[in-house]
Amino acid sequence: MNQVTGRPEYNWEKFATPESFEKMKKDKIEASRKWNANYRKMGVNRRNIIKTLEEAGAAGILSSNWAGGFGANRIFSAGTKTIPNIDLRLEDYSMLYRMVKSGAGPEIRVVSTSKDLGVVPTFNALAEIRGVEKPDEYVILSAHFDSWDGATGATDNGTGTIVMMETMRILKAIYPNPKRTILVGHWGFEEGGLNGSRAFVEDFPEIVDNTQALFNQDNGTGRVVNISGQGFLNSYEYVSKWLLPVPGEIKKHIKTDFPGMPGGGGSDYASFVAAGVPAFSLSSLDWSYRDYTWHTNIDTYDKIIFDDVRSNVILTAILTYMASEDESKASREKRIMPVSPRTGKQAIWPRKRAPKRKATDN
Ligand SMILES: [Zn+2]
Repeated sequence: MNQVTGRPEYNWEKFATPESFEKMKKDKIEASRKWNANYRKMGVNRRNIIKTLEEAGAAGILSSNWAGGFGANRIFSAGTKTIPNIDLRLEDYSMLYRMVKSGAGPEIRVVSTSKDLGVVPTFNALAEIRGVEKPDEYVILSAHFDSWDGATGATDNGTGTIVMMETMRILKAIYPNPKRTILVGHWGFEEGGLNGSRAFVEDFPEIVDNTQALFNQDNGTGRVVNISGQGFLNSYEYVSKWLLPVPGEIKKHIKTDFPGMPGGGGSDYASFVAAGVPAFSLSSLDWSYRDYTWHTNIDTYDKIIFDDVRSNVILTAILTYMASEDESKASREKRIMPVSPRTGKQAIWPRKRAPKRKATDN
């Protein structure tokens, strides 16, 4: 949709008169209404319009997927088979839109250097410190190595990767002979549907069955502010115990929720939760992740908040140490799932899903 404004709402809220702020919001709602009505008239939707245009013979597609912040556009897969789908920044798109609308008949020249390289392998990068007392039991550190190509993926999931690598470096230096094996997984092709972690779960059942706990970090650069028990009935008992030695300066920011609900997707911990593994998401403070860095063209190194990343490393190293040293194996007992007041049906535990092994898999 051609945007009503390239300024985020918080900017309007700060500087606009209340009347013009209200008017802008109304204009936005009206523009969306018209846009959606157009879709309905064409008999297509956001999902299948790309395919429809390609099949109708389009030479290429120009899109603009604004993320809501100054200069930030969202990048996802092109959705086309053979023709280019090119994302334009908000104002480039807007100018073109105005020129078309006013009958100026603009012509554009697209220079794209992308190439189709055919089938290219993707992979998981794994490393471990072997356990001494219980080498066949595991504590897993988890983040994903792939990112969207609009930028370098600094906060999705560069910072998660940094946290897990730095945690491993510290543990190797001061805890070289852990009780349990500590394994770090930097998963591949997470962005295509948790494929690296789902493949690992499918390929290594003996590890999955003997995993004490998994810690995943994948929602930005911020310090950890939420940990959910992911639906494991007794998670309160052991996660609280593991959190005990975490310094107050770090712990005071963290809200916990036990037993919580099992995560069905969003990041790689979900692949393990589905397999019944106590797998936890170390969930970050937003730092404008949603508006600015999640899957955008400006997810770059300069957005990293190293003080928060450092705090997350300390937290992860302590949780890993504590989970590894724990005398008992963490309980996998699941909560009784709640009944929806709307449907009267009981929610079900997320199902294990097969990875895509090839881009052509559905
Ligand atoms: Zn991610």
